[in-house]
Amino acid sequence: ARAQGRDDLGAEADDALSQRRQRLLAFERALHRALERQEFYLAYQPQMDVATGRIVGCEALIRWRSTEWGEVSPAEFVPLLEESGAIIDVGAWVLASAAQQAAAWERAGLPLRVGINLSPRQFLAPSLMEHIQSALQSSGVSPGCIELEITESLTMQDVDHSIRLLQRCRDAGVMVAIDDFGVGHSSLAYALQFPIDAIKIDRAFVTHITRGRADRAIVRAVVALGQSLGVEIIAEGVENQRQCDFLEAIGVTQVQGYLIGRPMLPDQLEALARSYRREV
Ligand code: C2E
Ligand code: MG
Ligand code: MG
Ligand code: MG
Repeated sequence: ARAQGRDDLGAEADDALSQRRQRLLAFERALHRALERQEFYLAYQPQMDVATGRIVGCEALIRWRSTEWGEVSPAEFVPLLEESGAIIDVGAWVLASAAQQAAAWERAGLPLRVGINLSPRQFLAPSLMEHIQSALQSSGVSPGCIELEITESLTMQDVDHSIRLLQRCRDAGVMVAIDDFGVGHSSLAYALQFPIDAIKIDRAFVTHITRGRADRAIVRAVVALGQSLGVEIIAEGVENQRQCDFLEAIGVTQVQGYLIGRPMLPDQLEALARSYRREV
């Protein structure tokens, strides 16, 4: 009887597992049809220049509105796209759409810099330059309006190769930023070697900046490094005025976060950029 009970429990666990697996499979199937079904769209989060108090740029962030699963967070699906390699095609779509949007703003007399996230796999794919060139050419945007965001962890792996790739991006006229700086394989020494235009300080440091001494010291060091390299320092995840004031006081040049605005649709971003004045 005891052995029987164990088998029942085992069978139940198997059922639960197979149900979870079925769900995941269905999710992945929906995800891999999302591109052709045109279920992806981009939201844009504003970035404010601290010196002028104006919106000077934004970051394109992918969104998935699934017919079956509703609005799904990129934290849930970007890693799956990365794993399967589908991020290369989806990433090419992101590059093309964000470049189109940047070109439209430029034509409308609003030359915003648009940040575009590149995943590790996309960065290392042989098709990367082709996708960048094609996004630039078909949109007609000034390459200087595009800033590619690359996470530090992947640029670490093969330093010489990464430097060559980043240099090719910059030769194409686009800007390059290190994203999520300070988390993962962070090392100031590595960052010094890369040909970059901007460093984006991760939200994790900004969150505790008005309280934690260690985070404050790290951000100060990154800002000092950025100043000596002549690169832009963008702080992510700025949610309140105290954080913003502190970041400004230590020399951060641009801020992005809910304080300035959440990721929003292009028309809203345009309206905000045209009307925005920093509160004093
Ligand atoms: P990320 O590149 O570091 O983007 C910043 C994330 O922080 C965004 O989350 C944004 O909505 C969120 N955020 C911005 N300001 C604040 C704030 O003040 N407070 C808080 N709590 N959060 C804030 P999101 O849109 O969910 O994107 C998450 C990540 O997914 C991104 O992190 C990026 O790594 C990835 N991702 C998004 N779009 C793309 C894409 O087109 N391609 C690739 N490869 N990855 C993408
Ligand atoms: Mg980013
Ligand atoms: Mg980031
Ligand atoms: Mg982040």
